[in-house]
Parts: sequence; C-alpha cells; structure tokens
Amino acid sequence: MILDQKQWRVGVLALQGSVIEHVRALQALGALPVEVKVSAHLQDLDGLIIPGGESTTMYKLARAFDLFDSLKAFVHSGKAIYGSCAGMIMLADHIVDGIEGQETLGGLDVVVRRNAFGRQVDSAQSFVDPGSFGGDQPLPAVFIRAPWVESVGSGVEVLSTWQQTPQSTPRVVAVRQGPLLATSFHPEVTDDLRVHSYFLNLVKAQTN
Ligand code: GLN
Repeated sequence: MILDQKQWRVGVLALQGSVIEHVRALQALGALPVEVKVSAHLQDLDGLIIPGGESTTMYKLARAFDLFDSLKAFVHSGKAIYGSCAGMIMLADHIVDGIEGQETLGGLDVVVRRNAFGRQVDSAQSFVDPGSFGGDQPLPAVFIRAPWVESVGSGVEVLSTWQQTPQSTPRVVAVRQGPLLATSFHPEVTDDLRVHSYFLNLVKAQTN
C-alpha cells in the first residue's frame, strides 16, 4: 500500500535489535527505510524508528559510536519517531529498573518500567484492542521481556492497554505524544502493518 506519491525516508536505528523486521514493514508500505548507524545517516530523514532489542546495549552502542547526542537532537526535532519495546524505553523521559547509568533519549512524558512483564519465559503472543490503529480485528501483539508504561503526563494519549492474565491489572502498552509513538510490543515481528501505517501517517503529518 503506497500512502501517496512521496516516498517517505524513514530511518531505523540499526545498532542492534529488530532492524530488518522494521525495514521490511516500511518497504511493504512503500516507504524508503534508511539504516541509521552513524550521525550522518540522520540527514534528510522524515522520521525514525527505534527498534526492539535491548535498551541497555543500544544505549551503550549509541554512546560508543558517538551517535547518542545527535539521536537525542533528532528525537526532539519535531519529526515523527516510533519506538517498539526497547525503543519505548529509549523514548521515555523516566525509566524504572534501568541499569546503573542508563540514559534515555527522552521526549515522551512517561515513566516506563523495564522488563515489567517479566522474564523471557513470561514473553507472550497476544492481542490488543486496535483502537486508534484502525480496523475491527484485534491487533497481534508480541511481548518479549516487555516494558509497560507506569504513568503518563497530561499530553500523552493512551492507545492500548493489555492484561497479562485475566486476573492482572490492565497495563498501558501503547502511547502517543504528538509525533512520538511507542509500543511495549513488537508489531514488526508480525505481518500486521497497522501500527507502521499509523506511524507513517504521523510522519506525513509532520512533514506537510
Ligand atoms: N527488556 C528489553 C530492554 O530493556 C526490551 C525487550 C525488547 O525490546 N523486546 O531493553
């Protein structure tokens, strides 16, 4: 599905994690993915995805490759940014259960708890209400050592909640604040393109 004539140049932070999965989702929607490994790759991008993976490793690599400060500037530039799972952690203004010295890029006025849904054995393939992502069918949602959003600031819209078990407290797993989007789950490892399509509409809105 091509959204319109212009081909949106969307970066995927390519230090570690589910990079190729996001690249494929963007290609399937007619956007032009650009793997971002060094600061120069941020030039002329219309938006950026920070993939799932391991936020502590991504943070360390971004520092090691001298990319952290320019990434932070890009995230705060008003362009559309999407973070899935570890990417959500990277976009949070505040995190709980980070490692010693772990910094985030920030931008989203939320508190995110790392590994909140438990260990690898607690990882789950589930479904969430599609809500703003569109369509009637439940949205497939893969949670892998996933964070949840513990609290949100007044400008943050909650897009989805999820209960790990029917007895569990519903937790916030998708949020948007202006052009910043984050999910605890990984739509990039499913073939459902609704979250990426929603994100590309944010990209388009920010560049018009
Ligand atoms: N627990 C990981 C972290 O802290 C996130 C897991 C994921 O992205 N699947 O970054």
